[in-house]
Amino acid sequence: MQGKKGVKKIPMRKCVGCNEMKPKRELVRVVKNKEGEISLDLTGRKAGRGAYLCPKVECLQAARKNHGLERAFSCRIPDEIYDGMENELKQDE
Ligand SMILES: [Zn+2]
Repeated sequence: MQGKKGVKKIPMRKCVGCNEMKPKRELVRVVKNKEGEISLDLTGRKAGRGAYLCPKVECLQAARKNHGLERAFSCRIPDEIYDGMENELKQDE
């Protein structure tokens, strides 16, 4: 006889844009590497500290406005980095 059903826990992460908890695999990781460079991790394989965003331009723009990413990485993020990530997200949509 089997006991309790094995309920698999889905790893949840918070989007730094809209601040909603979502399953990790529905989010896109933003990574800060050893060099302090920030980029989108669309493959999920980049090394470094990560923060999570919905794969939507709106959430990236919200994160830009509320400084959620800068708080997550405790550093300033230049406009060109945001612009670059925005373009990448647009291409991905
Ligand atoms: Zn979001």
